[in-house]
Amino acid sequence: MTRVVETISELRVRLRSWRGEGHSIGLVPTMGALHEGHLSLVRRSKTVSDRTVVSIFVNPLQFGPREDFAAYPRVLAEDVAKLEAAAVDLVFHPPAAEMYPPGFRTHVDQDDLPDHLCGLSRPGHFRGVLTVVLKLFNLVRPDAAFFGQKDFQQAAILRRMNEDLNCGVDVEILPTVREKDGLALSSRNRYLSPSERAEAPALARALALADAAFRKGERSGAALLAGVRDHLRPTSMTVDYVNVVDPFTLEDRIEVRAGDVVAAAVRLGTTRLIDNVTLGV
Ligand code: AMP
Repeated sequence: MTRVVETISELRVRLRSWRGEGHSIGLVPTMGALHEGHLSLVRRSKTVSDRTVVSIFVNPLQFGPREDFAAYPRVLAEDVAKLEAAAVDLVFHPPAAEMYPPGFRTHVDQDDLPDHLCGLSRPGHFRGVLTVVLKLFNLVRPDAAFFGQKDFQQAAILRRMNEDLNCGVDVEILPTVREKDGLALSSRNRYLSPSERAEAPALARALALADAAFRKGERSGAALLAGVRDHLRPTSMTVDYVNVVDPFTLEDRIEVRAGDVVAAAVRLGTTRLIDNVTLGV
């Protein structure tokens, strides 16, 4: 039976008893509106952890003033039904005031990794992500935590935090789950109109073409990126960025090599979509 707790004290009681019984704990942080991408993380946690905690928290700190915090889908009953079906042990669903009570004033920052890709158009976003994930690590003290490669920059940043701040969590990054037509699953896909939804897979296709070109021997970063932009040009997407980067430093690559990542963000109508591909793996 999946229990939903909203307070830190209830969370602590449950975790204390599990730890007392010697159980290992897996954590899957989410913002809800769950789909198969989230559930793939849950299933992985279930296979390597004795107990799995899923957090559902639309973190106000990681949204900019003109972003979709208010509109972000909140469908708790549906989410809990999915987690119940996946036999998740505990859902942590705190109100914002439980995480950020009056007087809260401490944040986590990171050098340079947030100054690339999504961080450029979303100032403060990764500070919000780092802060909430460190809080969740401290609250749950998981043995392992599971994140998606779909949010590639986030994964790189959180891996770094885990090392730098000695969190001691086994951070696992899992592959992007996609629709049959290639579109990466995202809670934001539900914002797409039918015609936007029809166009959306062009992003994944453009990235797959870059990978195909790499596999055929193309090593020029500029040529790969031009190919991605060419593929997107006939669509109604506006490109926020397309870069090919080192997967750890997130610095742009001129000569690409296997393991580098082509990452892109586009706007389709009012919806921002991100996706990425790791070259040659
Ligand atoms: P979110 O609820 O969007 O904050 O995502 C929660 C976690 O699910 C993050 O670690 C995401 O990277 C991961 N995630 C989101 N979409 C996907 C996907 N399509 N495939 C795999 N993981 C995903």
